[in-house]
Amino acid sequence: MNSAILHNGKVVTAQEYNVDIHGNRIFCIDRSCKVPVIYVPESELTMSYFKKTGKNDSKHKPNCGFFKPLDFIDSIKK
Ligand SMILES: [Zn+2]
Repeated sequence: MNSAILHNGKVVTAQEYNVDIHGNRIFCIDRSCKVPVIYVPESELTMSYFKKTGKNDSKHKPNCGFFKPLDFIDSIKK
């Protein structure tokens, strides 16, 4: 995702995010979800962006726009 919410409720984009300014407590943009996310710096292949931490408690809520059901891949194979 390209945007995240800071601990103070402000929205920051990956392009303007700076850990020294914004801190490292950043969350999913969907206010009903707010799963912790981490910043991924830009590389030769991708722009900078935010993603889930990958920990067990790091899952988007089902009503979050970034939530994808686990059977998503299965359903497009059929
Ligand atoms: Zn989410």
